[in-house]
Amino acid sequence: MDLQLTDKAVLVTGASSGVGLAVTRMLLAEGARVIAVARDPGRLDTAMAALEDRDRIHAVTADVTDRVAVESAVASGAEHFGALDAVVCNAGRSLMARIGDTSDEQIREELDLKVFGAWNVIRAARPHLAASPVGAVVNTNAILAKQPEGRLAITSAARAALLNLSRTLGEELAPEGIRVNSVNLGLIDTGQWRRRFETYRSEGGDLDYDAWSAEIAADRGISLGRFGNADEVAFAIVSLLSPRASYITGAHVDVGGGVTRQP
Ligand code: NDP
Repeated sequence: MDLQLTDKAVLVTGASSGVGLAVTRMLLAEGARVIAVARDPGRLDTAMAALEDRDRIHAVTADVTDRVAVESAVASGAEHFGALDAVVCNAGRSLMARIGDTSDEQIREELDLKVFGAWNVIRAARPHLAASPVGAVVNTNAILAKQPEGRLAITSAARAALLNLSRTLGEELAPEGIRVNSVNLGLIDTGQWRRRFETYRSEGGDLDYDAWSAEIAADRGISLGRFGNADEVAFAIVSLLSPRASYITGAHVDVGGGVTRQP
């Protein structure tokens, strides 16, 4: 099926790794043009250099919590391609800590990243998306937004804020022809989990990655018994970006291998 994304210009934050990189690769395969955003220029360049279709990538470094830097990245991408049809607010990380062990500064940083990390991008892109006949936003979120975990206390709360905001934006931007949806992740095998595995090994753990991740999947009650991978998430994101999803807005899709136990 043609997803009707050929030549569409899509800005992806967190494009240098994991889900964002998989989304970038899938969009390029669909014939789209990608404005790839991340903070570390070396990592971004290395990731983009490994992709085909370099002429359809415009890489820009920006921290999504920095409003001015995001405005500049959006303007640069829209100018480079002459349009901006969609954005994927994906950049982020999680903070593994219970609320009693989380400093006020960490709480502010986490809310900043999850809320402004998306809102800065959507606000700057809004006029371009409104000018596109197929304006769309997809926010990468987490099942934690609906199913909080004490060991990820403030990340869960910040995720809930973003999910709530996404639904409001779905309503508010609909008259401008902009759709806003969310993809909620369970446990996905990306850089975040590889780093945690390295920590586990450095602290003396002796399981290999597959056994370690299967143990975590069982502990979290994942029906499919394994972590997901970035391509499985990218498929959901790219599907929601597609103009074929023209009647879907204010919605969310869970990509969690069946971990969802609550609505
Ligand atoms: P990765 O760590 O693999 O990649 C994160 C990407 O975001 C990198 O490109 C990183 O590049 C970029 N990034 C991080 N902070 C910023 C920032 N402030 N401004 C701009 N870019 C930034 O993560 P994943 O692919 O695993 O995660 C993608 C999203 O999904 C994140 O929002 C994450 O929180 C969320 N998620 C992931 C889950 C999982 O199990 N993997 C579960 C639930 C949610 P750089 O550091 O150079 O900026």
